[in-house]
Amino acid sequence: MSSRHNPISSCRVAVIGAGAAGLAAARELRREDLSVVVFDREKQVGGLWVYTPHVEPDPLSLDPSRTIVHSSLYESLRTNLPRECMGFSDFPFVPRPDDESRDPRRYPRHKEVLAYLQDFAREFNLEEMVRFETEVVRVGLEDKKWRVKSRNSDGIFGDEIFDAVVVCNGHYVEPRIAHIPDSWPGKQIHSHNYRVPDPFKDQVVVVIGNFASGADISRDIAAVAKEVHIASKTTASDVYEKLPGLNNLWLHSVIESTHEDGSVVFQNGKVVHADTIVHCTGYKYSFPFLDTNGYVNVDDNCVGPLYKHVFPPALAPGLSFIGLPWNVLQFFMFEYQSKWVASVLSGRVTLPTQDKMMEDVVAFYAKLEAMGIPKRYTHRLGELQVEYYNWIAEQCGCLPVEHWREQEHYLGLKRLCTQSDTFRDQWDDDHLIAQAYEDFAKLKQ
Ligand code: FAD
Repeated sequence: MSSRHNPISSCRVAVIGAGAAGLAAARELRREDLSVVVFDREKQVGGLWVYTPHVEPDPLSLDPSRTIVHSSLYESLRTNLPRECMGFSDFPFVPRPDDESRDPRRYPRHKEVLAYLQDFAREFNLEEMVRFETEVVRVGLEDKKWRVKSRNSDGIFGDEIFDAVVVCNGHYVEPRIAHIPDSWPGKQIHSHNYRVPDPFKDQVVVVIGNFASGADISRDIAAVAKEVHIASKTTASDVYEKLPGLNNLWLHSVIESTHEDGSVVFQNGKVVHADTIVHCTGYKYSFPFLDTNGYVNVDDNCVGPLYKHVFPPALAPGLSFIGLPWNVLQFFMFEYQSKWVASVLSGRVTLPTQDKMMEDVVAFYAKLEAMGIPKRYTHRLGELQVEYYNWIAEQCGCLPVEHWREQEHYLGLKRLCTQSDTFRDQWDDDHLIAQAYEDFAKLKQ
């Protein structure tokens, strides 16, 4: 590849966030001998996987000046993917029989993922790069460098210049809400602020959304509620179905209207009088600290323009984003994107010219449009993920994604959609587990 971008010599890099993405980035950047400072406003590594019983005061998180609670985990959460495919490529997410406090299951509870990330940070001495309880409040371009302003828990402000900034701030904090007219009198909450089912005891609850969180939360609530009704945009308009495993959980098509008497009318014609609506409707990308003079924008949940979801062509390689694509093998993708960013910043790998990158972005957007894919799905990789990882692998000289990993993800998601009550405990892909463990054994040699 040719490039007019010069590598940044003795590059000092700021990483924003010490969740899985920030940890992966910090490790890869240091592997390329770059000088790294990781900022995180929390007290420990792990990001989203640090469970807290606390929620935001506004149950829909609409108030822009609210105090942010970062984690969106609910108390009962178990992973929605098998552990073998969830881990980083060279640090497998395997059970730890030497430690009784750990959860050995294939789909473990959230605490096990946090413990894994803590193990990862310890193994590679990553915490020494992290400034905890330090929030980045502004990142702006200045004379081709980046000025990073921060504030720590003592209220002390920092103001430093970096050669590059890698944004790893997570994207499960700013809720997306379905429109329910103000005239509907019941309570509303977004899944970001859902922790335990107890407040819904004996209620009639409508859950909007039926993907990972919606499917889990509706079952969690149904264990104590009178009735739970799921409104799903992926079901046909006449669907009305009792879901297996519980006798008070129904699947409907979307909500057609809501009324002042508390009733909710579904497209299938069914009417329920609900106490609460739970929005399991996803999240929006948000970078409140980032000022790129308008170059990078979030438009209909598309962050752009970005070359391969990572580099804004006009600001590359000084600004990059890790972790934007969704419906992917998250940790694996963070690691591969980080390898690419680190090798570009060290000068080992070069980017195409700004014009060429922009041409690629424009062609990508045009392709999505021609396929009828809405803008808000720009970062949904899904079945394109393998091609994406292998393209990155080619750039920076690492191995392509393993077949078992790709298949575990594919079959895992299929099970999640077709057996939402049992997918974590019943599977028929033991041959993939065996292949994964064969590869893990090779890592020890
Ligand atoms: P985060 O983990 O959110 O970390 C971002 C970090 O940035 C945080 O520590 C935060 O404090 C910090 N930060 C943010 N802004 C600032 C700032 N201005 N200054 C300083 N620090 C800042 N993925 C899976 O692979 N398997 C699963 O089973 C799975 N389950 C999920 C369940 C739920 C409910 C959700 C919401 C997501 C789930 N995911 C799952 C996806 C999950 O998002 C990723 O696994 C991953 O943990 C995200 O890592 P991240 O580093 O991008 O973001």
